[in-house]
Amino acid sequence: MRRRRGLPLVGLGSLFLASALTAQTPGQKGTPEPGFHVRYRAPAASAYAERVQAIQEDGVFDVAVDGLNRTFRVPRPVQLELVPCGRGTATWRAAERKITLCHELVGALEESFSRLEEPVPEGELPAALSGALSFVFFHEAAHALVDLFRFPTRAKLEATVDELTAIMLLETSLGLIEAEAVVQVAIDGALYLADVPDMPADLAFWSEHRLTRDRIGDVLCLVGGSEVTLDFDYLADEPVLQWPEEFGKRDCRFENSDLYQRWQPRLKPHLKPKEN
Ligand SMILES: [Zn+2]
Repeated sequence: MRRRRGLPLVGLGSLFLASALTAQTPGQKGTPEPGFHVRYRAPAASAYAERVQAIQEDGVFDVAVDGLNRTFRVPRPVQLELVPCGRGTATWRAAERKITLCHELVGALEESFSRLEEPVPEGELPAALSGALSFVFFHEAAHALVDLFRFPTRAKLEATVDELTAIMLLETSLGLIEAEAVVQVAIDGALYLADVPDMPADLAFWSEHRLTRDRIGDVLCLVGGSEVTLDFDYLADEPVLQWPEEFGKRDCRFENSDLYQRWQPRLKPHLKPKEN
């Protein structure tokens, strides 16, 4: 029995539409404004073209980008593009300041969700795919902000990115109601990703980022342990947040407060004041 308690599993599009229309868009001409911008390309004829189209029309990325821009002082323009690339991957390219989510990743995730011992039902697939891709986007956006804010990573780049992903989900969710909804979608997507025990080794995104079940659990524990956004309390019961029994009970409240204690000083200059 699957969970997902935030939003209805279908019909997200209408919720996001109004906000997507007001989302920031790149300038018509010249240099785009600092902040995240989203650009879509029509999917090529493929088995998953309709899925890609539906995800784009949902407007989740327009809202996610708008939420991040309202939350963080992003110093430079960052392009998010959803495009066909020839392989199932997602990347952050610092030199071009570009996040790419490949259409083929949608196909690869759909295949993974269908191969599960308890496959994701057809009716849940649109929400599962939108959510999983949103979570991947927040991961790549965390890579972008680590670079743009020049946060120290030492040898632990992916661990730093995981911590910042949790902070980005939490801080963005404290903004407008649409932003909170899109964070919820991404969190639900992460739960679907965590259900896949063995992502295919040839999935390009996975081989680079190794977003394992443990790592997803770490991010969600940091989110679920927040005392500010109580709406995520339900995460505490998710199996992915539990340690193996021999390690005792996991304290996500402590992990969250430890996270903020460590991050607050370096985060503060990059946060915008809350609008409400
Ligand atoms: Zn990564």
